[in-house]
Amino acid sequence: MSRHSVTLVPGDGVGPEICDATVRVLEATGVVFDWDVQKAGAGAIAEFGTPLPENVLASIRKNKVALKGPITTPVGSGFRSVNVALRQELDLYALVRPVKAYKGARNLRDDLDFVIVRENTEDIYAGLEFEKGTPDAEHLIAEISGLLKKKIRPDSGLSIKPISVSGSERIVQFAFDYARKNKRRKVTAVHKANIMKHTDGLFLAVARQVAERNSDIEFEDRIVDNMCMQLVLRPKEYDILCCPNLYGDIISDLGAGMIGGLGLAPGANIGTNGAVFEATHGSAPKYTGQNKVNPMAVMLSAVLMLRHLDEVSAADAMEGAIASVIAEGKNVTYDLKEKRGDPTAVGTSQVADAVIARLKAGA
Ligand code: NAD
Repeated sequence: MSRHSVTLVPGDGVGPEICDATVRVLEATGVVFDWDVQKAGAGAIAEFGTPLPENVLASIRKNKVALKGPITTPVGSGFRSVNVALRQELDLYALVRPVKAYKGARNLRDDLDFVIVRENTEDIYAGLEFEKGTPDAEHLIAEISGLLKKKIRPDSGLSIKPISVSGSERIVQFAFDYARKNKRRKVTAVHKANIMKHTDGLFLAVARQVAERNSDIEFEDRIVDNMCMQLVLRPKEYDILCCPNLYGDIISDLGAGMIGGLGLAPGANIGTNGAVFEATHGSAPKYTGQNKVNPMAVMLSAVLMLRHLDEVSAADAMEGAIASVIAEGKNVTYDLKEKRGDPTAVGTSQVADAVIARLKAGA
C-alpha cells in the first residue's frame, strides 16, 4: 500500500459534511493520503473573487486525482457552473456512473449492475446558445434558412449540438477500455441516429468503427427512447452504456432512481490528465450544516477513486462495509427509509461511524 497525494475539494452546501464523513472512512481503510485541501464554490468567491480559483485547477493538474463535494451554481451572479468549468478546463471527457443495486436499498429490482459512460465535453451541452430575438440569433436563423431551405420561426432560441469524430472516438474507446479493465462483457452505444443523422448518426458510425478494433468485447446499439424502456424491463441485458452528453445525463438520473435515489449514485470524471471523483447529486443547500444527508454517494465515488488508484483490496473492503450498513438498514439517513419522516434515520456522521465500525469488524 502506497501513499497518495489527492486534491480534496469539499465544495459548498452539504459538501463539507459529506466529504468529511468520506475522508474519515477512507483513512480507516489503512490507505495513506496526503490531502491537498482546496476551496471552491461559494466560500471561495469572498476570498478569491471567483468560485473556481486557479490553485484548484493547478492542484488537480499536479495530483491528477481529486475527491470533490458538490458546488452550488450561483444564480444570477454571472458565474457559470464550477462543475462544468472544471470538467472543461481539465478536459475530463468521460463521466462514469455505475448503477448498482445494494441489498436493502429502495431498488427497482435487486440485480441491477450496469455502468453509464457519458461523454462530458460536447453535444448540446457545449454552451453554444443564442438567445431569442438577439441580432446573433436572427443572423443565424437567416443563414440556416438560406442554407437548408427550411423555415425556423423568428421567435426561436437556438442551441447548437456539435458531435465530433475525435470526441466520439475517445469516449467509445474509453468505454471499451473500461469494460476490459472491469471485466465487463458488452458496450451498448446509445443514440437517436434515426433522427439526427449528422450528430448521433456520426456518433454511431464512429462507435461501430471503434467496436471493430475491440472485438474481444461485445457491441450493440440502442435508440435512446427504447433504451429507457429496456432498462426498466430488461436491465440484466445491459452492461456498459456509452452515451453522448445529454442522453447520459438523463439516463444517469433514471439509473439513480432505479437504485434508491441520489444518495447512492456515485460518479467519476476522467480525462487523460486527471480524474475527479464526485457524487451525481448537487449541494442540497437547504440541508447545509444539518448533519442530515446521505454521504454514501460520495463514499461510493471514493471507492471508485480507490480502484482508480489500484487500491483494490481497500476499495473492496470499503464497498463491502457500505453495503453491509445499507443491508442492515439501521444506521442509514432519511432518504434510505421507506417513510421520509422516519425518526430512526441517523445523520451524516453517524453513517460514517457505522461504516468505519464495519470496516474494522471485517479487518
Ligand atoms: P441536489 O442534488 O442538490 O438536491 C436535490 C434534492 O435531492 C435535495 O433537496 C435532497 O432532497 C436530495 N438529495 C440530494 N443529495 C442528497 C443526499 N446526499 N442525501 C439525501 N438526499 C439528497 O439538486 P439541486 O437542488 O437541483 O441543486 C442544488 C445545487 O447543486 C445547484 O446550485 C446545482 O447547480 C448544484 N449541483 C452541483 C452538482 C455538482 O457539484 N456536481 C451537481 C448537481 C447540481
